[in-house]
Amino acid sequence: MSIALLARDCVRKLTPYLSARRLGGSGDVWLNANEYPTPLPYTLTQQTLNRYPECQPARVINRYADYAGVKPDQVLVSRGADEGIDLLIRTFCEPGRDAMLYCPPTYGMYSVSAETAGVERRAVPLLSDGQLDLPEIARQINGVNIVFVCSPNNPTGQRLNPDDIRALLELTCQRALVVVDEAYIEFCPQASLAGWLSHYPHLVILRTLSKAFALAGLRCGFTLANHEIIQLLLKTIAPYPLAAPVADIAAQALSAENIAAMRLRVAEICSIRDWFSEQLSQIEGVENVYSSQANYLLVRLHNATAIFNALRQQGIVLRDQSRQYGLADCLRITIGTREECQRVLDALLALKETR
Ligand SMILES: *Cc1c(COP(=O)(O)O)cnc(C)c1O
Repeated sequence: MSIALLARDCVRKLTPYLSARRLGGSGDVWLNANEYPTPLPYTLTQQTLNRYPECQPARVINRYADYAGVKPDQVLVSRGADEGIDLLIRTFCEPGRDAMLYCPPTYGMYSVSAETAGVERRAVPLLSDGQLDLPEIARQINGVNIVFVCSPNNPTGQRLNPDDIRALLELTCQRALVVVDEAYIEFCPQASLAGWLSHYPHLVILRTLSKAFALAGLRCGFTLANHEIIQLLLKTIAPYPLAAPVADIAAQALSAENIAAMRLRVAEICSIRDWFSEQLSQIEGVENVYSSQANYLLVRLHNATAIFNALRQQGIVLRDQSRQYGLADCLRITIGTREECQRVLDALLALKETR
């Protein structure tokens, strides 16, 4: 008997999430994972690796609560926001009975986590203006325990209309959780819905240190929700989800000084983004540069996959979104340093001349 037959059906059928890193390749300009382009220096302050770490390190929880404007008992810290997604599905969806709903084109992990858990997935695509299709969500909501939305949305960069999210919260009241993924909220902080937690017991917000905080390699994310939801998630989380060095560095990243430094970096990235967007839109063959509220641009261009491959040959790694729902001929480009963005512009212009 093949060992593979011992694996669960849903795992054998699963197409795993292809992270930027797993896609691999070689290059020197990495604009495919929405990371911050340059590393920040941190040193460990604790030398207690003989001990198991705290499950929910108090300093990290308190500092994040302060930063997000919520109470410490409304915060859960985990191994990236991805672990938050997985915990939500494992805690709130019974495989084979409950469904989850998501709105493509969007971040891939909602669907992959549900599939891995054997939980039914319902996709209700965003409308052509990038907003929620509320009537269709209402039609499909029976049996759904979690609705995942992402704002600003990855990969479009667009924010969801807050009135629509409010309508979604009314629709799902007493029936389902609404998870709003705010992985990129630092790039448009005024749009956060964290202040809505006191009104909506079924609202959940996902956050991360991987993007604006420049700590993708740390693996640290947050789930914000009312205490009752956090308590349920604490039942299913691993006993020691964060390594001690992770907690040490996360607490440092959340000091007042480092939060101020993060805000300066965000302003710089946004200014590069706006310049880069303008430059891209002037290149022949570029059909649309989506307006973005985050640290990446979605670009529709003639022959996207061929251009993706040509740039990759030159060591410039972007993310091909062509196979995502509604995104034929689209590439997503992370905002790197100004020099890295210039490399992309030069490469695109050179391609034009050789064709
Ligand atoms: C990057 C990203 C995440 C994952 O964040 P981690 O904390 O690195 O796991 C979650 N949601 C969206 C929309 C993202 O782009």
